[in-house]
Amino acid sequence: MQIIADLHTHTNVTDHAFSTLTEMVHAAKERGMAAIAITNHGPTNPDGPHEWHFSNLDLIPRQIEGVTVIRGIEFDITAPAGGINVMSNKSLKPIEFALASFHECLFPPADKTIHTQALEAILYNPYVNAFGHLGNANFPFDHEYIISRCNEHGKIVEINNASLNIRKGSRDNCADIARLCKKYEVPIAVDSDSHICYRVGHVEGALEMLEEVGFPEELVINSSVERLDAYFRGRGLRIFS
Ligand SMILES: [Zn+2]
Ligand SMILES: [Zn+2]
Repeated sequence: MQIIADLHTHTNVTDHAFSTLTEMVHAAKERGMAAIAITNHGPTNPDGPHEWHFSNLDLIPRQIEGVTVIRGIEFDITAPAGGINVMSNKSLKPIEFALASFHECLFPPADKTIHTQALEAILYNPYVNAFGHLGNANFPFDHEYIISRCNEHGKIVEINNASLNIRKGSRDNCADIARLCKKYEVPIAVDSDSHICYRVGHVEGALEMLEEVGFPEELVINSSVERLDAYFRGRGLRIFS
């Protein structure tokens, strides 16, 4: 399986990331990718940019160096009950792809019931498209309860390559989540979560794990331009025109 778009990347407007937009897009081009989503942290994350970063996202050309650039965000799931970063409608409007993720700094790990409740609330959040790095072992949740309900709420699940390397214990969780996505036919995205241009498109560990669970390529939205185009068109967006 091939990944033609990296849908989770950070530029240096996120303090703990190091590359410019230009460098990230160039890296995507060098890796032969058709698209990249720029998904910086939301403004209430201490490392996120000001809200105006998001209200201005539509300044970014649709294509740079032949690579389609998707305007995104990685929302923080905020305590207590599954909210996300607070932003004005003006700032939300340009966003085309939104992940929502648990981060320890904004949602202190609690217990399985509380994490499951928070994720359930996200299922109903119309601004969120995908759950980011769900395999984080610090945030156990009822996998089957959440995954089995993703399709009715139009949510997809991200398999995050960086988690496999840096979030201890997440490989088994990610494999279990992938098996459930296969069982319930929930589409997934396979992403790098790059914080530097040298990691863009590197999803080798995630692909290896998906191979092991026999994950069907048809359910991976970023495994072909046609599938990614269909995903966005299904939401009324034309990113490859
Ligand atoms: Zn994250
Ligand atoms: Zn991230």
